Amino acid sequence: MQAPDRVRRVVILGGGTAGWMTAAALSRSFGDTVAITLLESDAIGTVGVGEATIPTIHWFNELIGIDEAEFLRATKATFKLGIEFVDWAAPGHRYFHPFGQFGATLPGVAFHHRWLKAQAEGMDVPLSALSLATQLAAEGRFAKPVGDPRSILSTLGYAYHFDAGLYAAFLRRRSEGAGVVRVEGQLRNVERDSDTGLLTALVTERGERIAGDLFIDCSGFRALLIAGEMGEGYEDWSHWLPCDRAVAVPCARVAATTPFTRSTARAAGWQWRIPLQHRTGNGYVYASRYVSDDEAAATLMANLDGEALAEPRFLRFTAGTRRRPWRGNVVAIGLSSGFLEPLESTSIHLIQSGIAKLLTLFPNRDHDPALADRFNTVFARDMDGVKDFLILHYHANTNPAPLWQHCRTMTLPETLIAREEQYRRSGRIILDADELFRDASWLAVLNGQGIVAQGYNPLADAIDSATNKAQVRQIADVVARAAPTLPLHDAALAAIIGTA
Ligand SMILES: Cc1cc2nc3c(=O)[nH]c(=O)nc-3n(C[C@H](O)[C@H](O)[C@H](O)COP(=O)(O)OP(=O)(O)OC[C@H]3O[C@@H](n4cnc5c(N)ncnc54)[C@H](O)[C@@H]3O)c2cc1C
Repeated sequence: MQAPDRVRRVVILGGGTAGWMTAAALSRSFGDTVAITLLESDAIGTVGVGEATIPTIHWFNELIGIDEAEFLRATKATFKLGIEFVDWAAPGHRYFHPFGQFGATLPGVAFHHRWLKAQAEGMDVPLSALSLATQLAAEGRFAKPVGDPRSILSTLGYAYHFDAGLYAAFLRRRSEGAGVVRVEGQLRNVERDSDTGLLTALVTERGERIAGDLFIDCSGFRALLIAGEMGEGYEDWSHWLPCDRAVAVPCARVAATTPFTRSTARAAGWQWRIPLQHRTGNGYVYASRYVSDDEAAATLMANLDGEALAEPRFLRFTAGTRRRPWRGNVVAIGLSSGFLEPLESTSIHLIQSGIAKLLTLFPNRDHDPALADRFNTVFARDMDGVKDFLILHYHANTNPAPLWQHCRTMTLPETLIAREEQYRRSGRIILDADELFRDASWLAVLNGQGIVAQGYNPLADAIDSATNKAQVRQIADVVARAAPTLPLHDAALAAIIGTA
């Protein structure tokens, strides 16, 4: 067998969260068998937001060998148990999308069918009472999940909020420690092989030439390689997700940390609140068709819970995706590959998911197009799944403001219509095996947005009604008893990072 012609030089364009996550993962995975160079421009800077994550972040942290306490200290992170949605379904209404699961793993039918059956038979226990993460969040408490499935703590899940700038710096230190070479400067032009059309080098404004076999486009919304060089287009999803701008501002932190992200619906979008150790991040994501920049900034500044620590910063974007984020020897990871607004904190997940796919499908220098095709197919599935989940939040509402009226009446993707109808009819949440958001997430948002299941899986009728109700009630009791015994978030964090 002839030795394969391996990729020996990877060039990453961009040093935002995507660039440094990619550099950290590739350097850790390939050691010195692949030379990695990262080009970034201090003058251009990074998008600088992106501070809330979902539990898949643990996979990435394990991949690059992060010590949790060191990571929490370095990025001034806090724990996140889920997202609180305020005023989304209707003014004055709140619900929580928790990480982890509802109820407990009992033999037979999925737990939520047991709950639906009990509700249909007159029991009045809200879904939130069956989630320990929801109860902990409401009380400002935090605990990590345990492996023993008999413990109610096994139903928990968690992620982090962190400072985006500190996170990139943390990953940069690790990457440079593992041999990644950073070049500071602006891209001037790209060299290509005239026969194959493949990229051969990036050239900076100062004339440095960075040659490579594989190029990762982490240049953010500019998408300089995948769009600029390879000509890949952008599929616009703004008819479903009309928010196209954000204004962000940090403010002073309040006394105790709330271990969750808060998302509050506003007239033309929604506002995030992300608590960190040293400050609170805030932003208003809005549709410019329905509100001016000045009005959006005024709304944000009027709704901070501490003193503003900087001037508000504006960002522009278009919801959408690139159908072929891998073309030739260019792979787009991060904002260059597409963007879905941060309503469910999915962008950092999509970065690590891109990295995982790249590691699985890492090419040789022949750049087998079948690998790119596979990457593009799986990436498209990821994006489509997240897109549908986000649209669900928007369309089921009773808000009279024009943005919300538009969302109520817009034509939905067929996939979402089918899923919602099935849930309404039978309480079933039909998911593909590799979808990111699982039953508990869909259940939380369907139920939270006021979509009511009319039925449940008949398998639940194999359990007699009294026993079923007693068991569901018992789980709610266990949750209610456990929550107050667990530590407050800040005490739990201090114990882990060593400042208790
Ligand atoms: C309003 C908003 C809120 C968000 N909130 C969240 C969240 O809560 N959770 C989450 O997971 N994600 C969130 N995201 C997404 C998240 O911020 C991004 O996915 C993440 O920061 C990755 O960005 P990036 O590295 O792809 O791009 P960027 O941060 O824009 O980095 C681009 C890099 O390319 C470099 N570059 C560009 N042009 C050149 C050039 N010509 N020469 C050299 N270098 C160049 C820049 O210097 C920079 O280093 C949010 C995004 C927005 C817009």
